[in-house]
Amino acid sequence: MNIRNKIHLFSTVWLVMIVLAINASIYWLFYKQTTEQELDRVQLQAESIAERLRPADHTINPADMLRAFLPPNGMIRVIDEKSGSIMTAAKEADFADLPPQYHDGQVVRLDKREGALYAIAQVPLIWQDGSVVSLEVTASLLAVQDTLNMLQVVLLLASLVVLIPSFLAGRMLGNVMLRPITAMIQTMEEIQKKGTFKKLVLQDQSKDELYHLGNAFNRMIDRLQDSFDKQQQFVSDASHELKTPLTVLEGYATMLKRWGLKKPEVLEESVEAIYAEAVRMKNMTRQLLMLANPDAQTSLTLSQLDLVSLCEETSKWMRQTYERHIQTETARSEIMLQADEQKLKQLLVILLDNALKYSSAPVMIQISETAYEVSFSVRDEGIGVPQEDLPHIFDRFYRVDKARARETGGSGLGLSIAKRIVEAHGGRIEVFSEEGKGSRFTVTLPR
Ligand code: ADP
Repeated sequence: MNIRNKIHLFSTVWLVMIVLAINASIYWLFYKQTTEQELDRVQLQAESIAERLRPADHTINPADMLRAFLPPNGMIRVIDEKSGSIMTAAKEADFADLPPQYHDGQVVRLDKREGALYAIAQVPLIWQDGSVVSLEVTASLLAVQDTLNMLQVVLLLASLVVLIPSFLAGRMLGNVMLRPITAMIQTMEEIQKKGTFKKLVLQDQSKDELYHLGNAFNRMIDRLQDSFDKQQQFVSDASHELKTPLTVLEGYATMLKRWGLKKPEVLEESVEAIYAEAVRMKNMTRQLLMLANPDAQTSLTLSQLDLVSLCEETSKWMRQTYERHIQTETARSEIMLQADEQKLKQLLVILLDNALKYSSAPVMIQISETAYEVSFSVRDEGIGVPQEDLPHIFDRFYRVDKARARETGGSGLGLSIAKRIVEAHGGRIEVFSEEGKGSRFTVTLPR
């Protein structure tokens, strides 16, 4: 059974049960009220007749008395314990069907014979011969039954007036509610079959939960498509980038095969070039692996560390490797923060490596802090980045000048790794650069 039918069945059964319970209560209350009124009435009548038929009062003939008190739709009779009915007054023959029952006390009851309802009251009475008899007053409740029948019809009609529209409304509501879900299922099946990303068309302006569900679905599809596209782009960029060094390697290998062994200068040049390309490829693959593995960027091993000593250690090592001057400037001798030491070092190496690659003047690291944040800038006075390239330099494989990047050995991956490291720490990286004058990369991290 589908969800629409389930909701519909449940709401209908529930509503029918409520309507039935309400109708039954109304009917029962009305029945009880009217029959009790009738029983009270016949009992009062029986008592007042018994009062008048006291043995002391011999002036009145009991038969006349019974006839005088006879209700228009009833019967009065005197029942003796042994011989049954000894005196009866009734206008209609139907009452003869009611068998006389002797009771020595007061009795009030309802009796139903062949569908007809009667209210019967009996009171004890001393008869003229001194014996105890039972005076019985019976009233037909035909009018009450008619009213009850009418009430049944009214309640049935009222129930239909409630149930039919709510049944139809429930069906309509089910359709309206489940339409977006059905559309979603269809879209998902289409995505699965065709392998393309498709979004839902959201028409509902009421901004209800189903609209939000559809919206969330569309956002999820957007994200999936985005990461799918990025992955595609990544694979194509990576293979493209690896093609260049491989072509260079192939070229030098061919040269070596032809003349390398005979010409020592070709041998030397080729080995040098093959070595340089192999190193480049090794670095690029390492960086690629890092970018392709999101966990490597997001899972941090945090520890409390001193940013000043980290910068000094790294710049000392870089100074020795590059034989260049790197100066550190700090507001305080110790600036503590919570971060992943290895990743922070990697970030610093990327920024310093760029500063050294793209400048020849000394490079400067400036460290500062506020109550909640620490920041460091790597500043150089090198070639700078043109304004139009600035928004893209953090993109994967983006190089301002591809030819020059090859000379410097750049792959265009450094800054995108740097950005990921900063984001994983919940910080931000900003760049200020002027072509020909120099660049400043500032990293701000929460403590
Ligand atoms: P690469 O490995 O090529 O240096 P990056 O992602 O680190 O790749 O940098 C992207 C581009 O940004 C570089 O190709 C370079 O043109 C430019 N760039 C980065 N840092 C600097 C800098 N300090 N001075 C000038 N240009 C820079």
